[in-house]
Amino acid sequence: MTFRTRFAPSPTGPLHLGHAYSAILAHDMAHAAGGAFLLRIEDIDRDRARPEWEDQIYEDLAWLGLDWERPVWRQSDHTERYAAALDDLWQAGLLYPCTCNRRDILAAASAPQDGSAPLTGPDGLLYPGTCRDKPGPRPGQDPRPEGVALRLNMAVAVRRALHTGRAAHLTFQETGHGPDGQHGQIAFPPEDLTVLAGDIVLSRKDFIGSYHLAVVLDDAAQAITHVVRGEDLFDATAIHALLQRLLDLPTPVYHHHRLIRDDQGRRLAKRDDARAIRTYRDEGATPQDIRTKVGL
Ligand code: GLU
Ligand code: ZN
Repeated sequence: MTFRTRFAPSPTGPLHLGHAYSAILAHDMAHAAGGAFLLRIEDIDRDRARPEWEDQIYEDLAWLGLDWERPVWRQSDHTERYAAALDDLWQAGLLYPCTCNRRDILAAASAPQDGSAPLTGPDGLLYPGTCRDKPGPRPGQDPRPEGVALRLNMAVAVRRALHTGRAAHLTFQETGHGPDGQHGQIAFPPEDLTVLAGDIVLSRKDFIGSYHLAVVLDDAAQAITHVVRGEDLFDATAIHALLQRLLDLPTPVYHHHRLIRDDQGRRLAKRDDARAIRTYRDEGATPQDIRTKVGL
């Protein structure tokens, strides 16, 4: 297997030390394996993505000494692929429209009298299923609804995944580690996802697609063999393995890595300008200083 990996930032803020670690690690692994390092700009959320952040991504990565294959894959250039996959999933009866806002979901998820905290998954609050059985457009009769969020009916998706003729478990190979040290061959029954992830959003009200949908389609379209990314996405990988089976896409090898934290042990965030690569550059740091700072 040739080694093809990617770094996939969203241009919604400055790259910080955590991004630098992820990008350098993926780049170095690709070079060590004689493989390819690709860059993907995850900009489907047109309200939050900014061209100036995209430009700064290229500048920062080049300054770090990284090189990547051209042309760069920009998600906003590929929305027709996301639409086509959504059409297929819609016609297969796997999606339903959802009109809930965050407040509706919070209210419905916290409704039970027992006072226990609402369940959460990789996307935050677990969707309580409010819109699942509402009357509305139907696959087979109606085209995929537009201008509304579409959720994956997880119970149906799990049944479908179990009837593809492939193994009853979803699996992926982990060459790094999950947050609890998970590594090696990871196997789990798809039904776990009804509790762990619930009916996730695969298309947003204001733009086509969602992170989970776009990432599996793009990893396949870019022929990615190894996904190198932070361990915070380990749980999301279960969702990705399910979508890969439903969409008949290959599952790459995953290499989740440790997260870079600040002095208080908190994860770095986009707004954490103090840790922005740009700030270190302006203060006269060298690319080697950045490698040292992140422990490479
Ligand atoms: N745009 C995502 C992020 O920055 C990419 C995650 C991934 O590598 O799958 O978190
Ligand atoms: Zn809803």
